[in-house]
Amino acid sequence: LALGAVGLMAAGLAACSSEAEGSTEGGAVDCNVGISMPTRSLERWINDGEHLEKLLKDEGCTVDLQYADNKTNKQISQIQNQIAGGAKILVVAPIDGEVLSPVLSEAKKTQDAVVISYDRLINGTEDVDYYATFDNYRVGQLQGEFIEEQLGLADGEGPFNLEPFAGSPDDNNAKFFFSGAWDVLLPYVENGQLEVPSGKAPKSNDDWASIGIQGWASDKAQAEMDNRLTSFYTGDEKVDVVLSPNDSLAIGIEASLKSAGYTPGEDYPLITGQDADKANVKAILDDEQSMTVWKDTRQLGDTVRDMIMAIIAGDEVEVNDTETYDNGKKVVPSYLLEPQVVTKENVQEKLIDSGFIDASDVGL
Ligand code: BGC
Repeated sequence: LALGAVGLMAAGLAACSSEAEGSTEGGAVDCNVGISMPTRSLERWINDGEHLEKLLKDEGCTVDLQYADNKTNKQISQIQNQIAGGAKILVVAPIDGEVLSPVLSEAKKTQDAVVISYDRLINGTEDVDYYATFDNYRVGQLQGEFIEEQLGLADGEGPFNLEPFAGSPDDNNAKFFFSGAWDVLLPYVENGQLEVPSGKAPKSNDDWASIGIQGWASDKAQAEMDNRLTSFYTGDEKVDVVLSPNDSLAIGIEASLKSAGYTPGEDYPLITGQDADKANVKAILDDEQSMTVWKDTRQLGDTVRDMIMAIIAGDEVEVNDTETYDNGKKVVPSYLLEPQVVTKENVQEKLIDSGFIDASDVGL
C-alpha cells in the first residue's frame, strides 16, 4: 500500500480522471445533494458543512445537510432519509468507516446515487465513487518532522520523553496520521533518542489502534494523559513531547498537563495538533501548544463542489490519486489536498490574513 501520496500533485497526475458514474448521456443528474457530517461538537465539521452547503446552493443545488452526533445509527438513518428525499449525490464523512455498505447499496439501487467520501474514507463497499480529502499520511509526517526538527533528533539530541497518541480506531484517517508520524519517530524510539515511559509505543504502524482514542474525544484524551502522568511520571520524570494527532485530543492533553502543574515557557512539553480549531490556535499563541497541521477546509469544499458540478454536467471528475485509498473492495479515485504547518510565527499570515479565522476569535 503506497501510503505517501506526496508528489502526486506533480506534473501529469492532475490529469488522471475517471468516468463519472451515475451520470447519464448528456449529463442529467439532478443536483440534489445529501451531506452527512459526523458531529457539530467539533468546529471543523461545522465549517465544512456550512461552507459546502453554501457553495452548492450558490450553484442552484438542493441540499440537505445533516449532523449525526457521532452516532453511527443516526448517520445511517439520516442517509436513508436523504435517499428517500431524492438525493442523487451523497457526500459522506463517515463516523465509522466500516458500516455504511448496506445504506450505500440502497442509495445505488433506488437512486443510482453518486457517492463521494468526504475527508474520511468509507470502507468495505464498492458503492463509493470518489474520495476528496487532504493527504492524510502527510498530516502525520508533518507532525513527526516538526518534532524531529524541534528536538534536533537528526543531530543526535536526546533522550527525550515522548507520549504518543492516536486517533479514533473507527476512523480510516487515524492510521494514516499515525503512520506518517511514526515513520519519522519510530527509528528514534528504537535507538533510544526518544523514550516512552508509559510504554505506550506501538512496535509498528499496524499497532496504532492500541493507543487510539475512541471518538476523538477530548475528555478521553485528558483521562488517558492523567493516567500516564500519575502512573509513570512519579519522581523527577518530565514529559518532553506529546504526539497528538489532532486538536481535540491536544485540548484534553493540554488540560491534563496544566492540571499536573506543567507551565508554558518553563517545563511545558512540545505538543502537536491538527485542524486549527480556534481554542487550539489560542493555545498556540499562549505557548500551550506548539503547532497545528492546518487543512484549509474551504479548499476541500471547493474540490467537492467541482466534483459535483462535473458529475451533473456528465463530465469527467478530476482526481489526482488512484492508488493510495484502497477501501478493501476497490481503490477509490481520490483528490488529495496539501496540509500545512501552523506555528505561533505564521498564525497571522496563514489563518487570519486568509480569512480562515478572525483575529478577535483568538484574542488578537
Ligand atoms: C479528520 C480530522 C479531525 C478528526 C476528528 C479526522 O477524520 O481528518 O481533521 O480532527 O477526524 O474529527
